[in-house]
Amino acid sequence: MTSKKRVALKPGDTIGILGGGQLGRMLAMAAARLGIKAQVFSPDPDSPAFDVVQRATCAEYADVEALELFASDVDVITYEFENIPSATAMILAARRPVLPDTAILETTQDRLAEKNFVTKLGIGTARYADISSARDLAAAMKTLGLPAVLKTRRFGYDGKGQIIIHEGDDPQDVWDRLGTKSAILEAFVPFEREVSVIAARGADGDVVCYDVTENEHRDHILKTSRAPAAISDALAEDAREIARKIASALNYVGVLAVELFVVPGTEGPGLLVNEIAPRVHNSGHWTLDGASVSQFEQHIRAIAGWPLARPVRHGQVTMTNLIGDDILDYGKWLTMPGATVHLYGKGKPRPGRKMGHVTVVEPLFPDRK
Ligand code: AMP
Repeated sequence: MTSKKRVALKPGDTIGILGGGQLGRMLAMAAARLGIKAQVFSPDPDSPAFDVVQRATCAEYADVEALELFASDVDVITYEFENIPSATAMILAARRPVLPDTAILETTQDRLAEKNFVTKLGIGTARYADISSARDLAAAMKTLGLPAVLKTRRFGYDGKGQIIIHEGDDPQDVWDRLGTKSAILEAFVPFEREVSVIAARGADGDVVCYDVTENEHRDHILKTSRAPAAISDALAEDAREIARKIASALNYVGVLAVELFVVPGTEGPGLLVNEIAPRVHNSGHWTLDGASVSQFEQHIRAIAGWPLARPVRHGQVTMTNLIGDDILDYGKWLTMPGATVHLYGKGKPRPGRKMGHVTVVEPLFPDRK
């Protein structure tokens, strides 16, 4: 199979997954259910995804020989995290199709490029400015107003690489604390709620979105997702349309997540895009137990060149992340009526570490026999 040929996997074929965390693990399990094998590439010998596959490559992302061998073992390659080094992506893409196309990472790895891309599509974001010095920052603090959020352009996640700037803060001091050469300043968004859309796009351009999910964070980390979000049908359709537009403009193949702020407006609530995640996403974990087909299966279908499902939601769904020491209470969740428990098989809980999640579905028709 050459790298540019349209992918059409058969049962028994193998997908390669870059990254061995819980997302890779759940992708591999979804592939197995469809009769597709998975080989996981990760530098960490304790990768949770290694537990569920027979074939694993434990090597650094810069190990050219390991990458070449990995590519030759698989039929298509995908990834569970967005910070793939560009050299790694190039080596793999020269040998096998990589989906989603790694060219999109140039947009989604860089907060400034991503905001510019979204703005060009006519979609709203927080007001923002490109910052490369304390002087830029001082000027942008004046134009955007305070409070504002300073974010590194690259490698930020779960609130890392971010500082909220308040009235009276010294730009030089804040800039030194962030310790980067390139950042963006975003106006602080007084959001009513945070929501996300999990969308899948097939190679034929078909886009399927899940119901909009409402997300609550604790210490910048997702704690709870609820589907559907408590927003009007019209706003939910607007959110899905934004995700469709983004997926199509990126010529995306696979599952992606668009995180949005719901903001008050004179003519009712509106939407601003916060972030695009070019992968399956924590706010879509509810689909494993709360929908007929999960985001993980949908991603496998998309990259395999198979038809996307039209997933049906089973009820009102709540997904709760087990973060750090929350995992110590797993016994409580195991005995909770109606709860489905997912433990990722990670070693020691650390503060902020995602150890598992629990889903509870309240059926749509509880009395129907
Ligand atoms: P991010 O890493 O950009 O997704 O940010 C993590 C969390 O910080 C978001 O989910 C929001 O809760 C909060 N946040 C990020 N940017 C802003 C903003 N411009 N205004 C208000 N809250 C923000």
